[in-house]
Amino acid sequence: EETAAKEAAASGAASKGGPTIFDKIISKQIPATIIYEDDTSLAFRDINPQAPVHFLVIPKHVDGLTQLSKSEPRHEQLLGHLLFIAGKVAKQEGLDQGFRVVINDGAQGCQSVYHLHLHIMGGRQLTWPPG
Ligand code: 5GP
Repeated sequence: EETAAKEAAASGAASKGGPTIFDKIISKQIPATIIYEDDTSLAFRDINPQAPVHFLVIPKHVDGLTQLSKSEPRHEQLLGHLLFIAGKVAKQEGLDQGFRVVINDGAQGCQSVYHLHLHIMGGRQLTWPPG
């Protein structure tokens, strides 16, 4: 399908390892609608929402899931924290009928921004499986 092919191409073209647009959102160099922030994480609305509510939760100081999973034990705690915040902000956003949490990782996962992010989507009936 054409859209899927475009997405795959876009994710393949994304650069790995360098600063990303999300670093600029963290440092407030570019605007985003931030709906939660603490010392280690940030939640903001996705610029291209796929559901009535679609926000991202990101770690502020680490870039990748693989990087997080391989390294220090405190990162294990951070991964848990990101999910905890996802649920907390989902509640804050009124998603009491349910929601979905997604991590796209790497080229085959269709990741386009190489800074770990949890997608939280809700506010409509979602379908399964994804493409
Ligand atoms: P991925 O495809 O890597 O899982 O998801 C990246 C997400 O980041 C996409 O849903 C895209 O809409 C979102 N995104 C990309 N650039 C920006 C931006 O500058 N601001 C915001 N708020 N979201 C962005």
